Amino acid sequence: MLPTDLIDRARAGECTKEDAAQLTNTPLPELFGLADELRAEAVGNTVTYILNRNINFTSQCIGTCRFCAFRDPNGYRMNTSEILEKVREAVDTGATEICIQGGLLPDMRLAGYCEILESIKSRFPDIHLHSCSPMEVYHAARDGVGVKDALVALKDAGLDTMPGTAAEILVDHVRERICPDKLNTEEWVNVIRTAHNLGIRTTATIMYGHIETTQDRIEHLFLIRDIQKETHGFTEFVPLPFMPYNNELGSEMLASGNYGITGIDDLRMHALARIVLHTHIKNIQASWVKLGTKLAQYALHCGANDLGGTLMEEKISKSAGATSGEYLAPAEFNWIIRKAGRVPTVRDTLYSHQQTIHKSLIKNYPPGGVATPSTTD
Ligand code: SF4
Repeated sequence: MLPTDLIDRARAGECTKEDAAQLTNTPLPELFGLADELRAEAVGNTVTYILNRNINFTSQCIGTCRFCAFRDPNGYRMNTSEILEKVREAVDTGATEICIQGGLLPDMRLAGYCEILESIKSRFPDIHLHSCSPMEVYHAARDGVGVKDALVALKDAGLDTMPGTAAEILVDHVRERICPDKLNTEEWVNVIRTAHNLGIRTTATIMYGHIETTQDRIEHLFLIRDIQKETHGFTEFVPLPFMPYNNELGSEMLASGNYGITGIDDLRMHALARIVLHTHIKNIQASWVKLGTKLAQYALHCGANDLGGTLMEEKISKSAGATSGEYLAPAEFNWIIRKAGRVPTVRDTLYSHQQTIHKSLIKNYPPGGVATPSTTD
C-alpha cells in the first residue's frame, strides 16, 4: 500500500525524489491506479491527438550521438521547394502543425534555418511551425550569434513552438556516454529557458531505456518540473523509449543480451511522469510510433492523455527499429481512444482549441491514403 502522505503530496504536486524512488518499486496496480486518478483530475476523460506532419529535411549530420540510427553521411537533403511541397500536401489535408527537424549540416547557419521558416510562413501563414530542437538552435547560434539572438531571429522568421527533443537524459555523466558532442544539460536548459522567456513554448521529452539508472530518470523529471515551475512554458511531456536497433549504443546492448526497455517499464515511466509532474504539466503523451498503438492505448490507463500526431512521416524511430508505421489515420485514433473508454478530441499544438474532428477529414486524410515515413530522437 502506498503511504497516505505520499499520495497527498502527489495530489498536491509536491512529490519528492524519495517518493519517486518509492514509486518505481510500487506494485503496478497501485502505481497505475494513482497515475490514472491524477490524469482524470488533470484532464478528465478527453484523449487528444493532432493532425500534423513531420518533415526531416536532411539525414546528413555532423553529430556523433551513439544512439542515432538516422544519421547518414550519404543521406538526402531537401531543398526549399521540396519542403514546401510537403507542407502544401499537409495543409491540403487539414494538418494544423508542421514539425521540421533535421541533422546538423556543417554549412547550415542561422540564416538557413530562418529561410526555411520564412518560406513556409509566407505561403502558409496559418500553419503552426513546431521546429528547431534545442540542439539545432545551439547549432544555429554558433559563430558568436548567441542563443537569445538566434531564438529572436527564428521567432521573427515564423517559429511558433519548439520540440523539446535533444534532452535524452538531462544528467551529464549519462550524456557524456551517449552523446558526448551534444549540448550538455546546462546548455539544453539555457536554450529552453530562453525560448520560454521569449514566449516560445516547447514540449519536454526524455529518452529512456539505455544506460541510465532509475535515479537518472528521476533527476531528469525533477529538472523538467523545476523549469516548469519557473517558466510555465512546457505544453506536454513525452516519454520516448530508446530503440536499440541500427545504432552503436543499441548494438552494444544487444550484444550483451539487453534487448532494451520492456512494455511494463514503458508503462511505469508514463505513470511516474504523470505523478511527478502532476499540477505542473497537464499533458503526458504516449507516442504511438515508439510504443506501438496497443501499448500506447494501454498507457491511457497509466497516466497518459495524448497520443501525439498523425505524422504522415516518421523516419527517425523507424531507422532505429520502430515497427508501428508512419501514419495513423484520425479514424483509427478515434477507434483506439473510444475502445479505451475515453473521448477522442483533435487538438492544436498548444492544447488550446480542442474540437471533435470533422467527418470529411477522417475520410480524406491524407490524400491518396498513403503516407511516407519523420526526425531526430
Ligand atoms: S540524434 Fe540528431 S544530432 Fe545526434 S547524430 Fe542523430 S541526427 Fe545528428
